[in-house]
Amino acid sequence: MMAAMLRSLRSSTTSSRFLRRPYSSESHPERKVTVLGAAGGIGQPLSLLMKLNPLVSRLALYDIAGTPGVAADVSHVNTRSEVAGYAGEEQLAQALEGSDLVIIPAGVPRKPGMTRDDLFNINAGIVKSLSIAIAKYCPNALVNMISNPVNSTVPIAAEVFKKAGTYDEKKLFGVTTLDVVRAKTFYAGKANVPIEGLIVPVVGGHAGITILPLFSQASPQANLSDEQIIALTKRTQDGGTEVVEAKAGKGSATLSMAYAGAIFADACLKGLNGVPDVIECSYVQSTVTELPFFASKVRLGKNGVEEVLELGNLTDFEKQGLASLLPELKASIEKGIKFANQS
Ligand code: NAD
Repeated sequence: MMAAMLRSLRSSTTSSRFLRRPYSSESHPERKVTVLGAAGGIGQPLSLLMKLNPLVSRLALYDIAGTPGVAADVSHVNTRSEVAGYAGEEQLAQALEGSDLVIIPAGVPRKPGMTRDDLFNINAGIVKSLSIAIAKYCPNALVNMISNPVNSTVPIAAEVFKKAGTYDEKKLFGVTTLDVVRAKTFYAGKANVPIEGLIVPVVGGHAGITILPLFSQASPQANLSDEQIIALTKRTQDGGTEVVEAKAGKGSATLSMAYAGAIFADACLKGLNGVPDVIECSYVQSTVTELPFFASKVRLGKNGVEEVLELGNLTDFEKQGLASLLPELKASIEKGIKFANQS
């Protein structure tokens, strides 16, 4: 059953190449990865997927509670990394020290009727305190922010790092990979193109209309009507809500998010290890638009972001989408900056 699951996972994207060799004994540099929020709905499957990644040598699983059980469970999987569980604030330093990559799915998920911004007050506080600890214990680590609202939590972390004097814009990433994963799945279904190797850039931010899939740049291209592109764009933007409603009060996307988080973390590790031409979409500090943070294709390298790629040619529909998202994204960025500086 596991073999079948891995076969099906690897057929869904070329970036999931690490899943082809989950038990590889090839030698890779030592890399410590820390998951903050590891006992949660995303954290648990994400921890398992990181345990399957041969690029990881040490896996530190941290949560406010519940991590010893998750760590013991995951540690029995016979792959390269050594797993350690850390529970409670007094163990946060140990979880972070020496980390190359910190993945943050800590926080509360969206419930029906809530927007990502409704989560703001709780998650903003959690992200702020975890960012303070990262600045103190592993200031050189790459940070993959999953906690929502990503449009605001990334600027919060940036402000905290600036205050601590540790900010490096190349090392802070908002994880928007789930938008890309959804855009690919929905596009392949509609366009009847093979999903393996499919590319669909998704730019902007990570909430509602700020998510802008660029289907005109999908490769391979299919002849879809304007109505089909509008419907695919809307479905990608509302993908999170689709899951929240289907789960009917039991949370938001966890399994597909863990998959997306594992794909993005793998790309970051490959970049750190010097693998050439690793490109993923991510929400990063940017000059692609007038906003200080924006999601677009990013080339990953030994120091994190090597290059933020331009948007390329947009259709009129995509230009319109870009114009409408900018004010909302701007407000979310400002909200994050204000929160980080006021409290
Ligand atoms: P969850 O409630 O199942 O798990 C969250 C975990 O975070 C819990 O185990 C909790 O104990 C832990 N936690 C809370 N405060 C913490 C702290 N200070 N330090 C460490 N851990 C702490 O929620 P979930 O479904 O796993 O979602 C987690 C976050 O991811 C939410 O903010 C959710 O909105 C977000 N999310 C992001 C995306 C994305 O695409 N970026 C997609 C889905 C969900």
